Amino acid sequence: MNIILLGAPGAGKGTQAARIEETYNLKHISTGDIFRYHMRQQTEIGLLARSYIKKGQLVPDEVTVKIVELALKDADMKDFMLDGFPRNIYQAEALDKIVDIDKVIDISVDFSVLMDRICGRRNCLECGYTTHVSQLSDGVCPKCGGEMQQRMDDKEDTVKSRLEVYSEQTAPLIEYYKSKGKLFTVDGMGAPDKVFEEVRTVLG
Ligand code: AMP
Repeated sequence: MNIILLGAPGAGKGTQAARIEETYNLKHISTGDIFRYHMRQQTEIGLLARSYIKKGQLVPDEVTVKIVELALKDADMKDFMLDGFPRNIYQAEALDKIVDIDKVIDISVDFSVLMDRICGRRNCLECGYTTHVSQLSDGVCPKCGGEMQQRMDDKEDTVKSRLEVYSEQTAPLIEYYKSKGKLFTVDGMGAPDKVFEEVRTVLG
């Protein structure tokens, strides 16, 4: 089974992806995670990606499609879950030429909650655990004791651009996949367990 997770920044794609990976054994391919890895390693791709990510813009399509092709090959082109890709019609059409997609899950969330969800998000530098700042009593990860940090692109100004990019470039993918009969929408407003129940109904 090959699936795509769609949804605005802050919709909860990463949280659901972790559960789906565990339950359905699908390989998780997150373009955001791949770019962050390259940024930490300070590779050429990382330096290029940083200049776009810090402004809340998309990394150029040619670079992004290339890293996804490589990740798909690593995943033997099957049983994968794409998270954060495609992010515009060009990328979706490029993907269609590479591989077949079975289902696209759109995690739908009211726009009004996204700013708080994203700006309040904190990630553990050690284990990657993500939570809202209101759930933390200090800057320490409740899972592993590592340091919790805010992503550089989770600051308010950058989030505004990311949400604009989502509305203009990514949201049209909902229609794109609906017209192909592949779109399944789940309500992303509830607690993660509740959202995952809906995801299970879609994935079977
Ligand atoms: P994410 O972790 O998915 O929110 O991605 C973080 C940032 O990485 C995005 O705001 C973009 O700058 C960049 N990025 C991730 N996926 C893509 C993509 N498919 N196309 C272009 N840029 C991307």
